[in-house]
Amino acid sequence: MIVILLGPPGAGKGTQAQKIQTAHGLVQLSTGDMLRAAVAAGTEVGKKAKDFMEAGKLVTDEIVVGIIADRIEEDDCKQGFLLDGFPRTAQQAEALDNMLNHKNLNLDAVIEMKVDDEALVDRITGRYTCANCNQGYHEVNLKPKVDGVCDNCGSTNFNRRADDNRETVSSRLESYHAQTAPLLPYYETKGVLKTIDGMADIDGVTSQINDVLGSLA
Ligand code: ADP
Ligand code: ADP
Ligand code: ZN
Repeated sequence: MIVILLGPPGAGKGTQAQKIQTAHGLVQLSTGDMLRAAVAAGTEVGKKAKDFMEAGKLVTDEIVVGIIADRIEEDDCKQGFLLDGFPRTAQQAEALDNMLNHKNLNLDAVIEMKVDDEALVDRITGRYTCANCNQGYHEVNLKPKVDGVCDNCGSTNFNRRADDNRETVSSRLESYHAQTAPLLPYYETKGVLKTIDGMADIDGVTSQINDVLGSLA
């Protein structure tokens, strides 16, 4: 199965991808996570991407398309994958279509997670992750069961993203509305778009996604 989670920054794509990937045997492919890893490792891609990311601007299509094209060749993607944060522009969507055609693969569904802009600001400014295993949390909405200890791996170190501040949020939302939202009618025409209510609580969103995935299986 090949599924895209499409939604604005902070909509809950990463949270849901982490929850559903194991259940459905899909690998989460997050271009944001891959780019942050490249920045941390100081690779050529990371050096090119860093300034764009910190300013809340999209990285070039060439960079992210290259990352995804390489990644889907790996063995663990054979069972299917869940794209989180890609595609984000018309050019990326076309590049993905070409990659899938070339490999004789079908896009099964594009799940649009609809969330109001005001809620996105709260979600992004409260977001943090485990420094060891990358499990996502939120100051108010999703705290670890034991204060300061990761549920998943027991680590007591947590990170906040450099770009998760009020200044970049408006630029990221603008990019979403201008460049990514136009993909919705594109996928609607292809008959693969499924829209869900991303304002529901985390488990409520998961069950809507499970319903969509169940209807495809
Ligand atoms: P995205 O990957 O779409 O940018 P995340 O999955 O990182 O978004 O979620 C952003 C923040 O909002 C995280 O701190 C997460 O814990 C929280 N969050 C995710 N889904 C929900 C939800 N349905 N309700 C409330 N908070 C949520
Ligand atoms: P969020 O879901 O909160 O916007 P991501 O982790 O998906 O965050 O992305 C973080 C940053 O990485 C983006 O603001 C952008 O600079 C870059 N990025 C991630 N995916 C893409 C993409 N498909 N195209 C261009 N830039 C991207
Ligand atoms: Zn952890």
